[in-house]
Amino acid sequence: MRRTFDYRPPANCAVESLKPGVRVQVPFGNRRMIGIITGCSNKSDFPAGKIKVADKLIDHTPVIDEQLMSLYLWAADYYQFPVGQALQTSLPAQIRKGKPAQEKQMPSWQASTTGESLDQSTLKNAPRQLQVLSLIIAQKKMTVAALKESVNGEVSACLKTLADKGLIEEISTPDSTKNNPDEIYGDDAPLQLNTQQQSALSAIRENIEHYSVSLLEGVTGSGKTEIYLQAIADVLEKGLQALVLVPEISLTPQTLRRFESRFNREIAVFHSGLTGTQRLSAWLRAGNGKADIIIGTRSAIFTPLARPGLIIVDEEHDASYKQQDGFRYSGRDLAIYRARQLDIPVILGTATPSLESLNNALAGRFHYLQLTERAGEASHPEYRLLDLKGQELTDGFSNSLIDMIRSHLKSKNQVLIFLNRRGFAPILLCRDCGWIATCTRCDSSYTLHRKPPRLSCHHCESQKPLAQKCAECSSTDLAAMGLGTEKTEQTVRALFPDTPVHRIDRDSTRNRETLHDIIEKVDSGDPCILVGTQMLSKGHHFPNVTLVAVLDADGGLFSADFRGQEQMGQLLIQVAGRAGRGETQGEVVIQTYNSTHPTLQALVRHGYGPFARKLLEERQLGKLPPFSYMALIRAEASTQSLPFNFLQDVINAVQHNFSDLSIIGPMPSPMEKRAGLFRMQLIIEADKRSTIQKYLTLLIPLMENHPEKRKIRWSVDVDPLDFT
Ligand code: ADP
Ligand code: ZN
Ligand code: ZN
Repeated sequence: MRRTFDYRPPANCAVESLKPGVRVQVPFGNRRMIGIITGCSNKSDFPAGKIKVADKLIDHTPVIDEQLMSLYLWAADYYQFPVGQALQTSLPAQIRKGKPAQEKQMPSWQASTTGESLDQSTLKNAPRQLQVLSLIIAQKKMTVAALKESVNGEVSACLKTLADKGLIEEISTPDSTKNNPDEIYGDDAPLQLNTQQQSALSAIRENIEHYSVSLLEGVTGSGKTEIYLQAIADVLEKGLQALVLVPEISLTPQTLRRFESRFNREIAVFHSGLTGTQRLSAWLRAGNGKADIIIGTRSAIFTPLARPGLIIVDEEHDASYKQQDGFRYSGRDLAIYRARQLDIPVILGTATPSLESLNNALAGRFHYLQLTERAGEASHPEYRLLDLKGQELTDGFSNSLIDMIRSHLKSKNQVLIFLNRRGFAPILLCRDCGWIATCTRCDSSYTLHRKPPRLSCHHCESQKPLAQKCAECSSTDLAAMGLGTEKTEQTVRALFPDTPVHRIDRDSTRNRETLHDIIEKVDSGDPCILVGTQMLSKGHHFPNVTLVAVLDADGGLFSADFRGQEQMGQLLIQVAGRAGRGETQGEVVIQTYNSTHPTLQALVRHGYGPFARKLLEERQLGKLPPFSYMALIRAEASTQSLPFNFLQDVINAVQHNFSDLSIIGPMPSPMEKRAGLFRMQLIIEADKRSTIQKYLTLLIPLMENHPEKRKIRWSVDVDPLDFT
């Protein structure tokens, strides 16, 4: 529901606790629910007799402070999303459920004197007990959570047996924090900055006291992270906290280790793999100030901060900052809003700025800091376009590319092969009649997977057993067309049988361990070939990769999306950035049938900066974002006419006189059918954000009250990135 509800305070409640951000238990219909106070007032628009009395306050002090609450309210308003649901999707589960806003004391175990001096052979028939006891002895004391993680399973029964035998005893751990006001640094000392880094850091320091936005544009490997670390050190010196946002995929153990070994301070980490208790603990420790550094993905922008001093958004161009369903906010844009609200600086770092941020920097709204050289010994990689016209290919590999891979391996280097399509092949085709296996629920073909064998739709995630026969003519002459990473892996193994091949994509790295293991093998430095999707393009540092090969650059050149070329350029540069991060010069080879395409030429010859400026000019001519603003309204239903009529009805019914507003549609979405529903969309475009906002405010109530609303699923996406 897009509204809040009025209640009277509970009887005898502490008036000083009646504040926004305090949780309350309230009667709602015939249920009891947990609510959060968003504001207090002496008046209500509702008749006095109708206002219910809240049962009780759950907190004495707000769990969400005033500024964070106003961030939520602003974001809900701007992204046209119910504030209750916005809170619901981003608060830790225990907070939502009304559980105490306190960390659970984690009991720890230590060995008793008997346990320590035990002859271990007495436990030889109880290997699990022996393992747990040895772990506890080795670590002196361990929490249940740490034990669970170490043995990778349940330990409570085992602990009870050991305790019953008198071998271990429970102790309550005092709340340990690393925060030591005197010593900021851990094991790693700050690096001596080069001239470019030095001037970027000085510019950041000049503006560290108040709100400012810096766009730190630094080529991959130029030492942006080192600048973040040194800026964070300044903030820690002042006793303040730093919030660091990173894209989901780049929150690698490597990244984390770098922060941990630099600072002798507690770091709260937010990522999708946390348990509820871990998330609550990180959230509380950010809010009560026990954690000094907070690192997390998009939703970490809603973390309470006790002493905020700096916000960093790493890889600010990354699409994962924009939530693509439900509460469709941009973590990057909210970071800027929050920094202004808190009057603190925000740094947006990337090698490939989004056109939005670049435009702001060029217009002087952001400080524009540039690092054009790689830090340390590494030099820029060399780019080469490999024209495929008339070339003979072995499953997507030209002979010249195969030769290059061979020569890099011969020099004991590593090679990375990039293909942004997982699975074995994108199409399964009947050679007799031309039938293609397509998802029955989507306008899309099934992707063929071999490991394990199946057909899978990458849009609705539906799966089917691998077809043995054509569904039209029953022919068994079925062919896998096109390339996916599974097939490329197979090809590479056949071409280079003596070299280890590792595939990295969403399928091969379902569990974190696999990715971890692969990274470790790559870290060892031995020659190997990595095959992967864009998962490879982010965050990882592979110093021994000297050749990056892009198998197919043509997909992105002819995208229907106006951001298609921008995204292609960012992806190519990010992937290429994995090459030559060590001491040997790197090479980047891009296979294409369009080697004279002006955009590709601009990118490869002149680099991302000139390429992006050229795209920006085109956007200006076309009056496209960032030179205009957009909202996308989508409606889906089981027939084509329902969502079309729904959208048509509401735009017909809105009376407005905004001169700068254009409405495109209703029309079918580029993928009209998905997961069994027909999809229609409206694009709303205007010169000013405020026009869009005012128009949406008129439109939304009409959608909420449309007579057919129950048959239709609709959503509003402000500043949309995804137009599919
Ligand atoms: P980015 O974040 O721009 O990709 P990093 O900060 O990860 O760059 O730096 C790339 C590599 O260069 C890292 O191995 C880092 O330790 C090293 N490095 C960064 N700054 C310096 C410096 N001033 N002197 C020497 N090495 C540096
Ligand atoms: Zn057929
Ligand atoms: Zn599907």
